[in-house]
Amino acid sequence: MQRISDRVNSLAVSQTLAMSQKSAELKAAGVDVVNMSVGEPDFNTPEHIKEAAKKAIDQNFTFYSPAAGYMSLRKAIAAKLDRENGLAYDASQIVVGNGAKHALSNVILATVNPGDEVIIPTPAWVSYVEMVKLASGTSVTVPSTIDEDFKLSPARLEEAITPRSRAIILCSPSNPTGSVYTREELQALVNVLARHPQILVIADEIYEHIRYNDQPFVSLASFPEIADRTVVINGVSKAYAMTGWRIGYCAAPVEIAKAVAKLQGQATSGVSSIAQKAAEAAYEGPQECVAAMCEAFRRRRDLIVKLASEIPGFNVNCPQGAFYLFPEVSSCFGKSDGAIRIGDSNDLAMYLLEKAHVASVSGDAFCAPGYLRFSYATSDDNIIKAMHRVAEALSSLH
Ligand code: PMP
Ligand code: GLU
Repeated sequence: MQRISDRVNSLAVSQTLAMSQKSAELKAAGVDVVNMSVGEPDFNTPEHIKEAAKKAIDQNFTFYSPAAGYMSLRKAIAAKLDRENGLAYDASQIVVGNGAKHALSNVILATVNPGDEVIIPTPAWVSYVEMVKLASGTSVTVPSTIDEDFKLSPARLEEAITPRSRAIILCSPSNPTGSVYTREELQALVNVLARHPQILVIADEIYEHIRYNDQPFVSLASFPEIADRTVVINGVSKAYAMTGWRIGYCAAPVEIAKAVAKLQGQATSGVSSIAQKAAEAAYEGPQECVAAMCEAFRRRRDLIVKLASEIPGFNVNCPQGAFYLFPEVSSCFGKSDGAIRIGDSNDLAMYLLEKAHVASVSGDAFCAPGYLRFSYATSDDNIIKAMHRVAEALSSLH
């Protein structure tokens, strides 16, 4: 018998990846599944980015890269932060990781000590709580509901803060809710955080470019009250349809950037040299592709909101960013189709996979038990097919 560490035994399996895997298995067995579980753009990576990667191979960018990433990419990221966000970072403050997921887990490992509390407004992306667990920190989750547009209020934030609070993870636009904080809402949270200088602000801004209202994007690092203790997490996965290339970064106070680079130096080394050259092209090349993909997501958002609002049992809001719909579904709990009883969101996600052949993710994975998440980064036809099938499957529940 193999002995597995308590550290890994205590981790939950990533439900986003697990549901996607399940749906792939059903597809391989010939079932016509609509996969709305994992969240990733369904577009191909733009041509000029792929060309840069091919060129990188031909030019023999095939050796170990520096642990923090190529200086040319770190400079391109600093230029992006200046150009798009008005933020002044030196390349020495930027560390390139194996996706935003890796950048985030490195920042948590580099800053959280055992017993430190990390405030996580929920619903929250699947990996935050587990990453804090890996660092032996304590997650302090602060719930919000669909009626509050899933946003943390300043009063709730103040209540959650204790002398052990070490960090907060904020995500806007949000996965899984699609909510986007306004500048005023962020300012109100910043006013609270300004009174608690021990708290590091970790801003997951990976969905920066997928927003549907006309308000400019506001990075948390742009608030002077907290700028010197804010870490920005971002990357190319969502904006440039580059999920498989695995390039993300943290932009951080210099000591944190150094600590993250040290950790990478021992754990993973610098990330793929070829993918780094592709990411450089993404940041330095034409940007029209970003807005074009966002426009397609906006159309799909309108479509899924319209169709899902008509489904009895779904309580739906209108997400302002990212590509997820997060309906409240608790009115289905306690019902049965005669054979299967729906006790919770996990049961409902399974029921919809098996009966409707639509893969979603249970709200439980996001610390939000009464909800389901549907990724609408898929074709209009798939969205229409999925919502019709879901409506039909739910109509058999009594
Ligand atoms: N943060 C959030 C909120 C996400 O949805 C994702 C996508 N999985 C990530 C971080 C990680 O993105 P990646 O590792 O692909 O850059
Ligand atoms: N952001 C995606 C999701 O939440 C990717 C999967 C993951 O990294 O967990 O579905």
